Amino acid sequence: MTSRGDATNGSHLPAVESSTPSSFHALVLDTFDSLQRQSQIFYAPYENIKHVSTTFPAVFQVAPHLNRKPVLAADAPERRSNNAKVNPFANPDPAFVLPFQCTTHTLMLNKYCVYRPQLLLVTKQYRPQHEALDAGDVKAAWDLMTQLEGEALDSDRPTGSTQGVSPPQRSPRQRWLAFYNCGAEAGSSQGHKHVQVVPRPETHEISFELFPETATSTTTVAANIDSIPHKHFVLRLPDNIGSDAAVEAYNRLLQSMRTFFNEQGWRNHNGVTDPPHNVVFTKDWICLIPRRSSGMERYAMANAMGMIGVFGVTHPAQVPSFTEDWGSLDEHMAYLGFPAD
Ligand code: AMP
Repeated sequence: MTSRGDATNGSHLPAVESSTPSSFHALVLDTFDSLQRQSQIFYAPYENIKHVSTTFPAVFQVAPHLNRKPVLAADAPERRSNNAKVNPFANPDPAFVLPFQCTTHTLMLNKYCVYRPQLLLVTKQYRPQHEALDAGDVKAAWDLMTQLEGEALDSDRPTGSTQGVSPPQRSPRQRWLAFYNCGAEAGSSQGHKHVQVVPRPETHEISFELFPETATSTTTVAANIDSIPHKHFVLRLPDNIGSDAAVEAYNRLLQSMRTFFNEQGWRNHNGVTDPPHNVVFTKDWICLIPRRSSGMERYAMANAMGMIGVFGVTHPAQVPSFTEDWGSLDEHMAYLGFPAD
């Protein structure tokens, strides 16, 4: 069954045409739309192909324009270079840069994107993408999501009501999701450290609940969520926490994942000190997923989004590479990551 992704993903603030956008979110959308009109950003509404499963439900988001996205080979020297000629994040194109106050990261728009908008937080100083996130990375993404979600709340708030008349319906709040692909095996395509922030795929759009959403404990790490075929480490986050508490939860999960990799016999090599993994987080939960393969050799690649069941593909004909050619989707997930216990 297919459905078409809405260009605004359902609940964005309307883009404003005036020269003074009403919010940061509106400014982001204005900049995005303007770059898209100039064919500087490659974006089109995508088609959702749902994969119905009793174990790992998934959706394949078909975005043909992603064919244009450059993907550096795992051992490409460009991954380790801070030269602006080969590293698009060394000296970001000013037209793509957004005015986000942050001492450690530059906020910019992703050029080859599935979502409107798709945001990149790139480190101001070159850091390699095979390094685990540090406190500064998590805080930058957390602060960005807090700003965007706070704005959506304010602008959705009804401005007043007349006695006896129902207040206008509040549109659903736009929620955000941050993800990180640590290392080439985790599905990253560039080597300069960057976190992506996108509108959170909601159940009404993808027809299933993202599995980290089902983790209930804020203290005990969920490492065996029912029927998920691949290893994961998830913590729910208490409501209204600040970025320090989010970093604390992240560090606990990182420790659990490192212990797991040590048990697997993983060792530092070629200057790579962190094992390949994905991080996905929202204001409600954080999830880490250890990786063994990007899936490139099977023509069935997944980044962090794929590992929570939201795959980006460029053609519907690619879907069987995930769901049939190498066994079931569950088998493929265990190959990309590690089999669940
Ligand atoms: P990842 O695949 O996680 O390494 O993310 C890198 C992202 O950078 C991809 O999603 C690309 O679409 C995006 N990208 C590549 N080149 C550029 C560029 N010149 N400007 C903006 N975004 C880019």
